[in-house]
Amino acid sequence: MINYGRHEVTQADIDAVAKVLRSDFLTQGPTVPAFESAVASRVRATYGVAVNSATSAMHLACIALGLTRGDRLWTVPNTFVASANCGLYCGAEVDFVDIDPLTWNMSSSRLRDKLMSTKKEGKLPKVVVPVHFAGQATDQEAIWELAQEFGFRVLEDASHGIGATRNKEPVGSCRWSDITVFSFHPVKIVTTGEGGMALTNDAALAERMRLLRSHGITRDPSRFQMRNTHDADASQPPWYYEQQALGFNFRMSDIQAALGLSQMDRLSTYLSRRNALARRYDAALQGLPLQLPTVKLENSSAFHLYVVRLSAGLAPSRRKIVERLKEDGIGVNVHYIPVHLQPYYRERGFAEGQFPEAETHGRDAMSLPLFPALTLEEQDHVIAAVSRAM
Ligand SMILES: *Cc1c(COP(=O)(O)O)cnc(C)c1O
Repeated sequence: MINYGRHEVTQADIDAVAKVLRSDFLTQGPTVPAFESAVASRVRATYGVAVNSATSAMHLACIALGLTRGDRLWTVPNTFVASANCGLYCGAEVDFVDIDPLTWNMSSSRLRDKLMSTKKEGKLPKVVVPVHFAGQATDQEAIWELAQEFGFRVLEDASHGIGATRNKEPVGSCRWSDITVFSFHPVKIVTTGEGGMALTNDAALAERMRLLRSHGITRDPSRFQMRNTHDADASQPPWYYEQQALGFNFRMSDIQAALGLSQMDRLSTYLSRRNALARRYDAALQGLPLQLPTVKLENSSAFHLYVVRLSAGLAPSRRKIVERLKEDGIGVNVHYIPVHLQPYYRERGFAEGQFPEAETHGRDAMSLPLFPALTLEEQDHVIAAVSRAM
């Protein structure tokens, strides 16, 4: 079966992981900080905070940004549920902004319209979560300008976006946001098995997220709140630690970080391979009744996914097309069923018709196989099968 995505693990990855397995630290050792530095420097951010998933990173980011009961978080419906759930974890209300029909990313003009109308009602969001869908950056400058004008914080969900750039600025540099999150789930561009990272240039936000990922506990004497009243010099003994907030165990292990660090060596190769395969799909699928991905001139996509949309008339037969592809050994997927149409969100008042562009996308989209190890022969097989199935 040729699936829509697949991880790649090399001998170098296995050797790197084995080295950690034979070392003194399986977790809380030197490899997690090394991985954090490697990712942060690659995307030109000051701080990287590694955790056990992108979902955990988004959760910590929302807490660090001060999101709480009575606040609002906005994201797009065309995403994985985690981009919205992080708001609910904090007791905030979640709402959505519809997508742009060409890039399938958050529409900055719709965001502006919604900000204008909610301002009158005094219901502005505290955090906005743009999602770099399929690996293409959102219009971050425009969103950042709106953030200054309307006073919200920006959390980029770049689960698909490591290695992408916009106007030569790497996604993750946080030039136009407060925090950016990457996912290292095996289906994403670079993997740690399970894992995620929050990037930021704000020392206080990084410190807060570091504290919260490990129970809210610090062992750093310069941050202790309590003085030792038993000893003359008032310093705390070596076994001392303090819980200063209600945190979690969201830590990444050194085993995972070793895999991620080794995979980062191949990020550039992965990006060029993914882009080359995407260009090949573009050329081969041109004549079919499909809307192909549009990458804006100022963007370089990481091409986490190769998503096509069936032309309006074909949408009702998507299921049949997907089944025909399956018979040919090809596993396509849909990114995404709009989040607001999930039963959990419907129960919270959302309904069909509220975000028409995302709903159309959810009806028409199909993700074709795209991963670095996909061979040209396999891709040709996919192309032939797609042409036959239409
Ligand atoms: C994969 C994904 C997540 C969640 O990542 P995990 O590391 O699995 O928690 C969040 N948002 C988007 C857009 C994703 O694709």
